[in-house]
Amino acid sequence: MDCLFCKIAAGEIPSKKVYEDDLVLAFYDIEPQAPIHFLVIPKEHISGADAITPENSRIVSHIYEVIAKLSRELDMKDGFRVVTNCGEKAGQSVPHLHFHVLAGRSLAWPPG
Ligand code: 5GP
Ligand code: ZN
Repeated sequence: MDCLFCKIAAGEIPSKKVYEDDLVLAFYDIEPQAPIHFLVIPKEHISGADAITPENSRIVSHIYEVIAKLSRELDMKDGFRVVTNCGEKAGQSVPHLHFHVLAGRSLAWPPG
């Protein structure tokens, strides 16, 4: 399958790794929107938040455990945001489920 994040997960395209285990990879976003901006992806291809099912949803709790662990290890104690864009109108540009983690500055709410 011709999927950018599957290739990054497989190490075929290089990335600046934050964390990796058997199930997930976290890596810094190539166009950071905050002083800390990384993505957490399942290694398994899931096209987006609308493709989460009872069969594959355990990865989501694992990803949030990883995000919490990384928030303690990196300097994110002042707050952080987790964002998943789903679909074209929401700004999803890569059709492989990913969680943006943003920290290091004040973040406006609601988002634009
Ligand atoms: P989306 O727009 O789908 O919510 O998020 C995709 C994110 O992937 C964007 O923030 C974009 O900067 C990032 N991105 C796209 N291509 C690459 C790449 O080759 N390497 C890395 N590290 N990030 C990428
Ligand atoms: Zn993929």
